[in-house]
Amino acid sequence: MKRLVTYAIVLLSALHAAAAPRAARESQRTQAPSTDGKLNIIAFGAHPDDCDQRAGGTAAKYAALGHRVRFVAVTNGDAGHQTEGGGALAARRRAEAQEAGRRIGVEYVVLDNHDGELVPSVDVRNQIIRQIRQWNADLVLAPRPNDYHPDHRYTGVLVQDAAYMVVVPNITPDTPALRKNPVFMYFQDGFQRPNPFTPDVAIAIDDVIEKKMDMLDAHVSQFYEWLPWVAGSLDTVPKGTAERKQWLRQTRAGQPTPAVRSALLKWYGAAKGKEIRHAEAFEICEYGTRPDEALLRKLFPFLPRPE
Ligand SMILES: [Zn+2]
Repeated sequence: MKRLVTYAIVLLSALHAAAAPRAARESQRTQAPSTDGKLNIIAFGAHPDDCDQRAGGTAAKYAALGHRVRFVAVTNGDAGHQTEGGGALAARRRAEAQEAGRRIGVEYVVLDNHDGELVPSVDVRNQIIRQIRQWNADLVLAPRPNDYHPDHRYTGVLVQDAAYMVVVPNITPDTPALRKNPVFMYFQDGFQRPNPFTPDVAIAIDDVIEKKMDMLDAHVSQFYEWLPWVAGSLDTVPKGTAERKQWLRQTRAGQPTPAVRSALLKWYGAAKGKEIRHAEAFEICEYGTRPDEALLRKLFPFLPRPE
C-alpha cells in the first residue's frame, strides 16, 4: 500500500513537472504587484495586432504614467498570410508583436494557439485565467463575442468564461486565484447584432496617435501585406517605409463614431469633447466587478477631473 502511494506521488510529480514549463511559457514574469499605486492592465486580442488597433493609444497613455500594460495575442497568427504560414510566420508575428510593444512601452505575450482554429476550450480558458492572475489585473480588456472572425468571437467568449473563474482557487490551482475580481471591459467594434457597442468610456488619444501608428507600423506582415491583400488593395500600399507609414496613418487612424463622440462630450465636456479627433472607447462587461464612476476614473487616470 505504502509503495502504491509513493508510486502515485511520483507519478503526480512527474505530471506536474511536465505541465510546469507550459504554464511558465505562458507568462514572462510572476504576479505583478498591486501595492505601489500603479495599475495592472491586461488586454486580449485574437491575433498579434488586435489589441494594438483597439487599445494601442490608451496603452501608450498608461505606459507614459508608469502603469503596467500587458497585451496578449491568444493565437500566434500562423495562418493569416497569402504567401507565408506555419512556424516561420508565427515567429515573424511574435517578433513584430514584441517590437510593437517595445515602441510604446508595454509587454506583449503571444500564446501558442493556432490562428484560425481557436475554440472556447477549457485548455485555452485556463491559459487566459493564468494570464489575468499572473498580471494581478485591475482591468481586463477584450473583444465582444460578436464578430465576423471566429478567433475574435471566441477570444471574447474565452475572456467572459474566465471572468468569474479567476477568483475560484480550485480552478488552475497552479496559479494563485485573485482575491478581487477585476473590471472587464470590451473594445469598440462596429457590429450591430444582437446589440451595438455602447461606449461607457471614451479616451482621447490625439496626443499619442503617432505612437499608436508607430506601434501598428511594427506589424509589417499584417498592415502592409496580409490585410491589404485580403481586401484586394495590395497595389495601394506604397513601397517606401516613410510613405507606407503615412498611408497607414491615412487609412487606420479612424474617426470617432457618433456614439463615441457622445461619450467624449460626457467625459471631456462640450468644448474639449467636440475637438477630439482620435479616440478609443470601451464598454463595461456585465461580468467581473461592475465599476461606478469613481472606479472608472481611477482605472482611466488620464480622464479630466469633473469641473
Ligand atoms: Zn484579428
